Formats: sequence, C-alpha cells, structure tokens
Amino acid sequence: MRKPIIAGNWKMHKTLGEAESFFDSVKGRLPDAEKADTVVCASAPFLASLAARTGEGTPSVGAQTMHEEEKGAYTGEVSPVMLTDLGVRYVIIGHSERREFFNETDDSVNRKTKAAFIHGLIPIICVGESLEERESEKTADKISGQVRAAFEGIGAENAAGAVIAYEPIWAIGTGKTATSEMANEACAEIRSTIAELYGQETAEQVRIQYGGSVKPENIAELLAQPDIDGALVGGASLEPESFIALAEAA
Ligand code: 13P
Repeated sequence: MRKPIIAGNWKMHKTLGEAESFFDSVKGRLPDAEKADTVVCASAPFLASLAARTGEGTPSVGAQTMHEEEKGAYTGEVSPVMLTDLGVRYVIIGHSERREFFNETDDSVNRKTKAAFIHGLIPIICVGESLEERESEKTADKISGQVRAAFEGIGAENAAGAVIAYEPIWAIGTGKTATSEMANEACAEIRSTIAELYGQETAEQVRIQYGGSVKPENIAELLAQPDIDGALVGGASLEPESFIALAEAA
C-alpha cells in the first residue's frame, strides 16, 4: 500500500515571514504522518528557517531544484550537501518550468536524480507533455521517454523510493485539470515504464503524483484513481487552509 504524498510547490512566492507563518498555521492540523506525507517545496532562501521548524505535525521541507555537484564554481547554485545539511528532505527535479526557462534537459534531470539518491534526498521527478504533444498523441512516448532518461543508471533499491510527478504542461496554472481518467492513464503509463525498467515489485512501490490545477475541490477525485498516489500543487498550496484541505483529502 503506497502512502499518499501531498506536496506544495510554492514556486517564486512568499516572503520569509509569510513562509514561516504558513508553517505555524498548518502545524498540528495535517493528517498523521503514518497516513500521508505532506511536503512544502519553498524557495532556497526560506529552506533553513522552514527546515528548522519541522517536527511533529508539520510538513517536511523540499527544495524546488538543486545542482548535482557537491560544491564548486557554480555561481548562484545550491548543492545537495547544502540541502541535507539544513534538514531538507525532498527536492523537485525537472519541473517543466525549469526545463522551459532554465535549460534543464533529460540529462541534467538524470544527473540531479542520481545526486539526490547519493545524498539521501527524495527526488520528486517531474514529467509531462505539452498541449501539442497531447494533441498529436505523443503523450505516452513523451512521458515514458522522460522517465527512462531520468532513471538511467539508477538501481532498483533507489528507484523504489522515488516520487514521480505527472504534470501535463497545459494544465499548469491554467485552471485546466486533466480529467482524473486522463491523469490516471498517464500515471499508469509511468508505472508500467518503471515496471519495464525494474520489475513489477518496484513499480508498485514508486509513488506517482498528479500536478496541474489541483485544488481542494478536485483532489479527492484524482486521488481516488488507482495509479495516482498524491498531488504536486502550485497555486492552491499557498494558503494554509487550502493546503490543509488538500492534505485532508489524502
Ligand atoms: P498549479 O497547481 O498552480 O497549476 O501548478 C502546478 C505545478 O506546476 C506544481 O508543480
């Protein structure tokens, strides 16, 4: 039985004070950690303070990206060592906005995924098709190709602990949600790709989220689908009450 995982991706939002008061507001009001994992992926400047606030009844903290090297001359970048040192537990890798605006490629996603496992971070690996790809019936090829590339050279013992987020690009921030059947079909495709790579047992363990205009009003229907194990939520994760409602659906 896979434990549901509800993650907020705050993107480039909030001040430090707002981020801290969000944590104070949700503390103790989220589902039991045995029942569901909750995560907030915040901007790098907030991670130290938020990670220091984590404990019973709070979400875990995730980063929104990272560099794959431990250290070096990479101005502006944040390393996996820096993240784990702060107590950060998750890292989003290959979000479509990173792929589109910051030149992330399947190769860099693979390097970062490897680095996440080496350093004990749980990667939330994002895959998803554009509207054009969906309309030309390339969805399955696109997402299975992205999954294969991300997991290249990664062993089954690590793969089982990964989180994969299926985020159709056309559903992000647009108010257009994939129907729950469509979302499940893509998540099932991802799981069968993992099964081809690692076998059925590993595929049954990997958690797959849906992301793209998830809200308290539509999350239950999405989570009811057999291959959807959680959600990666942008806009609707920003307000404490909304985040709590999302988590309660898990
Ligand atoms: P929205 O929930 O705002 O559509 O964003 C989805 C997303 O990109 C989460 O990573």
